[in-house]
Amino acid sequence: MDGRPRIGVLALQGAFREHARALRAAGADVVEVRLPEHLDSLDGLVIPGGESTTITRLASLYGLEEAIRAFDRPVFGTCAGMILVDRAHLGLADLVVDRNAYGRQVASFEADVPLEGEKRPFRGVFIRAPRVRDVGKDVEVLAELDGEPVLLRDGQVLVASFHPELTDDPRIHERFLELVTEATSVRA
Ligand code: GLN
Repeated sequence: MDGRPRIGVLALQGAFREHARALRAAGADVVEVRLPEHLDSLDGLVIPGGESTTITRLASLYGLEEAIRAFDRPVFGTCAGMILVDRAHLGLADLVVDRNAYGRQVASFEADVPLEGEKRPFRGVFIRAPRVRDVGKDVEVLAELDGEPVLLRDGQVLVASFHPELTDDPRIHERFLELVTEATSVRA
């Protein structure tokens, strides 16, 4: 990788534009992914929030499901994107995730998420957020809110149940780009 990493954003439905903006601000070149060939020569892929059922349906229609399963670079799934990478869907991360698992009253909310090793919390925007029900033994919990994991890493897959692309804080996207840089240097 010379210079800026090339990051794909799955652009079928949901908050892909906001991720593209956040990734560019954090120092990446961005490619909108709508077809399997758009995954070629990417250094990483973001699966955005939106409606997991719609994204799943469109991904399978465009042949992207198989292509993403075979994608061997870092992946970052947020909200619906976290549902998509779990065991029951693409199986990229060793997680079981429940959709819309917060009760109606608290379906959408903002909260300060403490980040390990950092003084300043991250303002988490939760929109009909999924909840992690089970994690495999190699999954690292990077942040919790009220005892529930909300930011996790399984190898080169990063997932957040909130929407870091909807705030101006670049720290989570920067972490993903660090993972991408690490993975690229291991391959080189
Ligand atoms: N509730 C949505 C779903 O189940 C996820 C919400 C989101 O991505 N903001 O797909």
